[in-house]
Amino acid sequence: MDINFRKLQEKLPFLVGREKIDMLNLIARYPTYVSPKEALEFANEALRLSEMIYYEDGIAHSLKNIAVAHIYLGNCEKSIDYSLKALEIFEKKSNSNEIANTLINLGSAYGSLSDYDKAIYYYFKALRYEEKIGNINEVGNCLRKIGIIYWCMEEYENALNFCKRSLPIHEKSNNYAGIASASITIGLVYKHFGDYEKAIINYNRAYDIAINYNIKDVEAAALINLGYIYVQEGNYDKALEYYNKSLEIHIIIDYKAGIATNLLYLGNLYLTLENLQNAIHYLDEALIIAKEVKIKKIINEIYLALSNCYEYTQNYKKALEYFKLHSSVKDTIFTEKIRNAVLSIENKYELENAEKEKEIYRLKNVELVKANEALILANEEINKKNEDLLIAYKKLETMSKKDYLTNIWNRSYILEKIDEERNKFKLHGKNFVIIIADIDYFKKFNDKYGHDCGDFVLTSISKDMSSLIRKSDYVARWGGEEFLFLLPETSLSEGYIISERIRENISNKIYIYNNLKLSVTLTLGICEYNKETNIENCINLADEALYKGKKTTKNCVITALG
Ligand code: GH3
Ligand code: MG
Ligand code: MG
Repeated sequence: MDINFRKLQEKLPFLVGREKIDMLNLIARYPTYVSPKEALEFANEALRLSEMIYYEDGIAHSLKNIAVAHIYLGNCEKSIDYSLKALEIFEKKSNSNEIANTLINLGSAYGSLSDYDKAIYYYFKALRYEEKIGNINEVGNCLRKIGIIYWCMEEYENALNFCKRSLPIHEKSNNYAGIASASITIGLVYKHFGDYEKAIINYNRAYDIAINYNIKDVEAAALINLGYIYVQEGNYDKALEYYNKSLEIHIIIDYKAGIATNLLYLGNLYLTLENLQNAIHYLDEALIIAKEVKIKKIINEIYLALSNCYEYTQNYKKALEYFKLHSSVKDTIFTEKIRNAVLSIENKYELENAEKEKEIYRLKNVELVKANEALILANEEINKKNEDLLIAYKKLETMSKKDYLTNIWNRSYILEKIDEERNKFKLHGKNFVIIIADIDYFKKFNDKYGHDCGDFVLTSISKDMSSLIRKSDYVARWGGEEFLFLLPETSLSEGYIISERIRENISNKIYIYNNLKLSVTLTLGICEYNKETNIENCINLADEALYKGKKTTKNCVITALG
């Protein structure tokens, strides 16, 4: 924590109204940085001022801070009263963060009073809130605090489990106080299992963190617990030193539960050392403080220690008295009812978690199905686009092969096809026929009827010529009013018949344009490709034949002799 509280305090006289209240609450919020007593004073002042101007947020935060200070001061019942009042306002304002915080404070207060069922109830409730808010750090805190309660209840496996669950979360959120506190509890569990080695490792980890980050209560806790290990090892001097150091810190931070515990441990140590006078003295002191803060668990242990002391001094009457007190307190802490209540709370939580997981799983499935549907749609769209693209591509491809005006094959495409036929001839000796056709007197035609009419006739006869040839044949626009036919696997005589059919058909056609009845004739030159020669030569021969036709009658078919 990088807040300099003394500096903040210096600002107080210059502030008024809400600003002053907020500042008071900010300082009061961290009782371990000022002192619980001071924190209580600041929070009380904040409450007084808030109520004066009816500043509801200020009131709620003051109540919460008073509650926290009271926990430190050992007034847990008071703390609970204030927390419940604060909770009411936070709930009214739907302030989830503060609701969760207050629930944690309630858990802590009940925990201190050894009301473990209520402590567990509030911690689990807080845990659920924090999980919902996504406040990872506080989730870790709740898990740890639940672990600590389990330790108090002597449910050691559960304690270890929850504290260990809290560790990685604390580590992730750099919550060093959390890591240190969890380590202490983990150490305590290992101590209970008799694994002192692991206990020491965990206490030391906590101690190092406490020193590094100046976390006084954890430093004191580590010291007292390390001291206890020294007792087990018979190193009483060291134990005494550690207990006293711990006590000193607890007195400085005015942590009553800690002080009572220290006095209890010192009492037990003196009993071990057979210094009964000291033992009873410390235990009596411990009992006064523990009763003051009403920590049943410690009171209970003090009774037992006192009973042992009196038994040692052979004052059996007093020994029995304290033992009876010990038993009755123990019974109030660990009733079957409380244990069952705690377990049922945990079960409910685990059940809810399972339900939540089921729900998450269900929702994930729904999302998955939705995502899948979207994917299918996207795929369909892509497929459709691909189809469109393919169509466009095919269109483009044909366009590149077709003549723009007449929509029959163009010159470059027919040349490709002729090349293919030439290869077929090379491989299989299949001859083919090339025909070149040219419209007769077309210049005159254009001159007479206009260029548009000429275009119309060019397009019309192209269509007609296409319908006059076989499926395997090709007709292309070779030039202006010239056409080239490719007739695969055709002999010259067959080609002649086809040429005549074309010529005759076209000459008989009547094209109607602007109510004008029009007709044109063709002259055709044909050549058979029947021996290996170059294509150019073959086309030239057909051209020459055509030229011959033009020179004579036109509207005729001339065969090239080649
Ligand atoms: P011939 O009987 O000897 O073939 O005489 P012709 O007039 O048909 O031949 P020539 O080669 O002298 O003229 C060809 C004419 O064809 C010239 C042009 O007006 C016409 N022509 C060429 N391409 C097109 C075209 O795309 N559209 C139109 N409307 N006319 C064209
Ligand atoms: Mg011509
Ligand atoms: Mg012509």
